[in-house]
Amino acid sequence: MFKPTRKIRFSVALILVTLLSACASSPTGRSQMILKSDEELAQEGAREFAKIRAEAPLVTDNATIDYIACVTNAIVGVMEGEWVDLNWELAIIDEKTVNAFVLPGGKISVYRGILDVAKNQDQLAAVIGHEVAHVTARHANERASRSVVTGVGVEVAAVILGGGHSGYTKTAYDTLSAGAALGIFLPFNRSQESEADIIGIEYMAKAGFDPRESVTLWKNMAGNNEKEPPEWLSTHPSGSNRINGLIAQYPKVLVMYNDARAQGKNPQCQQ
Ligand SMILES: [Zn+2]
Repeated sequence: MFKPTRKIRFSVALILVTLLSACASSPTGRSQMILKSDEELAQEGAREFAKIRAEAPLVTDNATIDYIACVTNAIVGVMEGEWVDLNWELAIIDEKTVNAFVLPGGKISVYRGILDVAKNQDQLAAVIGHEVAHVTARHANERASRSVVTGVGVEVAAVILGGGHSGYTKTAYDTLSAGAALGIFLPFNRSQESEADIIGIEYMAKAGFDPRESVTLWKNMAGNNEKEPPEWLSTHPSGSNRINGLIAQYPKVLVMYNDARAQGKNPQCQQ
């Protein structure tokens, strides 16, 4: 009869304790599992961002840089708590792709092509607000944490099935760590995307951008007739669902928008 060794029982107990202590709550109240350290992910994000800056063709036109930086600064300016001191950075990639993405640690990349659909500062603020929300809702950590759990499960299975054969265990573990390291570039899932929309529209409203322009942005996206569907669009929820989700936020965010305007927040970012 199989009797678990003390070591295996200890591992299983440790894993349960880790999982129980890792339950967190996202800004919209969705329960999240956070196992990775934010610092570790931020370092990985900063390394990849440095590569992008070194290797990607970057926009050199000052008017475009100033315009996108103006909108980004206004959005980052409404951050609260731990997110105020994050080292937010922006790269503007000189390609016609309609895309934007964010790496952990607040490293935002925008392709020049996004300006073909984000036709004014408010629509661009919807894009930036969405990307910033992925960071403050810790979506990359949540995703990386899921791969940690998968890794732990396979490792324990390998120890039990292989009778503690270290070679097998090591191989399973190595494969999974390589996958986890790449995890920061994988697309976010649908509930994370909807959540980034909901948080992002609040950020733009608090910064004094008209939140209703987020809907215009998505209508422009739908009408954008590129041959290939843009990456940003294809990894995100379908247009009509997301437009309905954004409109549902109007009662809340229009109050925020009016308050921001009353406080003198009136961004003038010009292309
Ligand atoms: Zn997204």
